[in-house]
Amino acid sequence: MKVVDHIRNAKNTVFSIEILPPLKGQDIHSLFRGIEPLMEFKPPFIDVTYHREDYVYKKRENGVVEKVSVYKRPGTVAISAAIMNRFKVDAVPHIICGGFSKEETENALIELNFLGIDNVLALRGDPIKAEGRFIPEHNGNAYATDLIQQISNLNKGIYVEDGILNASCTNFCIGIAAYPEKHYEAVSLDSDLQYLKQKVELGAEYIVTQLFYDNSKFFAFEKKCREMGITIPIIPGLKPLSTKKQLTILPSIFYIDMPEILVQAVHNCTTDEQVRQVGIEWCIQQSKELKAAGVPVLHYYTMGKSDAVYSIAKELF
Ligand code: FAD
Repeated sequence: MKVVDHIRNAKNTVFSIEILPPLKGQDIHSLFRGIEPLMEFKPPFIDVTYHREDYVYKKRENGVVEKVSVYKRPGTVAISAAIMNRFKVDAVPHIICGGFSKEETENALIELNFLGIDNVLALRGDPIKAEGRFIPEHNGNAYATDLIQQISNLNKGIYVEDGILNASCTNFCIGIAAYPEKHYEAVSLDSDLQYLKQKVELGAEYIVTQLFYDNSKFFAFEKKCREMGITIPIIPGLKPLSTKKQLTILPSIFYIDMPEILVQAVHNCTTDEQVRQVGIEWCIQQSKELKAAGVPVLHYYTMGKSDAVYSIAKELF
């Protein structure tokens, strides 16, 4: 079922999560063990991230240093199918532009369609660390707008490969990303929002936001979207803070601000457990305020750990 239909059918705010495929070498059961307790809160859908290849330098026995391409977290499509099969919920695989030609994207979408997957989150993806800036694949999509156009075309039976006879249509519900505190490359929030609007006009049906710790930023962003005529559901993405180090790491990775009261509360902690509790309590308060404001879904980034999200969901669902 489509995410937008889940939202339409729900009487109240619903719970959902994003999970990461396990690191290469780990088995899928550790992932299942993390998801199982959260099923108590009946998530109608679970997002599965996609991780493109990166380059590492490996020293060989003969002393030669070689640049090698590695996929640290493979398995997005298979995990999506396994989750649907095991938990009877919808999976939302993330699909990115980076590393894919349009033909490869088309084949991946056909595979998802055959697996009975109804939803995708369409993203550009981040640059490969070694490259510094995003470089699209030869014959690949350069922005999420291009990818959305391709998925919308496939939903109309328009394939990249020409000459396909009696082509059938897919019926994907397309989710997209947005940034209440602006995407780091955008020249301004307004320009970022113009592109967001374009993504909606091209066929996106719902928005999931980057994580944030200051609800006023989300509410201001939501208001701007509505004023611009973006009417589709906007789902806030939340992640409980769990270590002191994250106070500096998260802003540098996600280009977000940390509210001063949260920073002070974390600085006053003397143990990791106290920080974890502050993070959980902050996220509960954020969630309660967002729920009271009527957000359709509270979407939690588990980042491979589900115990803090469990404590939060227990207070709300
Ligand atoms: P876009 O919408 O393409 O925007 C990228 C930048 O270009 C923005 O600054 C925008 O303002 C500008 N822009 C947009 N369209 C155009 C255009 N047509 N012409 C010129 N400029 C334009 N990354 C992963 O690799 N895997 C994941 O699973 C993943 N999941 C995510 C889930 C969520 C909810 C979020 C918020 C992010 C996720 N990301 C993931 C990270 C995401 O890939 C990066 O933030 C990436 O840098 C931007 O992706 P986007 O889809 O927002 O890009």
